[in-house]
Amino acid sequence: MSVNMAGKIAVVTGANKGLGFAVVKGLCKRFNGTVYLTSRDETRGLQAVKKLNDLGLTPSFHQLDVSSRESVKSFSEFIKTKHGAIDVLVNNAAILEWEQVYPDYEAAKRNIDINYRSLLTIEQFLFPLLRDGARVVNVSSACGHLSNLKNKKWLNILQRQDLTTEQINNFVDEYLESIKNGTFNKDDFADEGKHAEHRVSKIALTALTMVQQRKYKNISINAVHPGHVKTDMAQGGGELEPDEAAETILYLILDASPNLKGSFLWYNKKLVDWFDIDSDYYYKHKCLV
Ligand code: NDP
Repeated sequence: MSVNMAGKIAVVTGANKGLGFAVVKGLCKRFNGTVYLTSRDETRGLQAVKKLNDLGLTPSFHQLDVSSRESVKSFSEFIKTKHGAIDVLVNNAAILEWEQVYPDYEAAKRNIDINYRSLLTIEQFLFPLLRDGARVVNVSSACGHLSNLKNKKWLNILQRQDLTTEQINNFVDEYLESIKNGTFNKDDFADEGKHAEHRVSKIALTALTMVQQRKYKNISINAVHPGHVKTDMAQGGGELEPDEAAETILYLILDASPNLKGSFLWYNKKLVDWFDIDSDYYYKHKCLV
């Protein structure tokens, strides 16, 4: 394998379709370097690459299942050997299973493993490769605003300036435990706790963004709510085309000041106060905003 340490490297997770695909497309047009389209399924990933090739764009491809430790580790070894470092990382991969508004334990755990815990594996294996000045975007959601949470104990902890990853993990574990032992309380969340699993995973992701920014001062990490996007996840709904929603992420990568750090950006590029717990930013299940 030839080593190319010179060029810049961008990596997008969950990029075979939807928003991730649109981000790769935008980066292929505007990023001065190599863009990795990654996906958990190689066939779907290569089909996506082919689609971009047909548009005259040339992303690179690598398999990456963010919920598999082995896959993240082997991707990190590949990047380390071939390129040495990463300049841009978009943590976009996620699931949302609509069938159960109040999911059982297995479904809730699946959501949290993919949408949140994967970020801890990525921190372990990919963050050591981030170059000084690198930019990381964590794709959150309206579900990831703190106003989705109503439980006072957890609100107090998650708002702490010295919040730790361990405390976030405890928050997630306590939610999962409540599902397992039947003590889940709808009133702990906005909107009668519908899809609380997704609110928990995205709140945890947003909180982690801030914790990571404090830990890794030489890079910029921000969370973003991309809007309600016309992708498979939105199941026929959505107001924004994926290419439009990708603009906010591309802005964070290519145009925003490197001093924009540890923030929560809304899809209209407005900074949102994540700590505004009484605000109306939370996700409303009925209107799917
Ligand atoms: P899609 O369902 O269209 O795409 C999700 C992508 O994530 C797919 O490529 C999927 O791969 C991939 N993925 C799922 N699990 C894994 C995994 N374990 N490893 C790697 N990739 C995985 O959804 P969107 O494009 O809409 O979602 C992109 C991001 O935007 C998500 O973080 C989502 O939460 C967020 N978002 C979306 C909103 C919307 O309205 N669409 C609203 C708010 C936030 P596969 O094809 O193999 O399933």
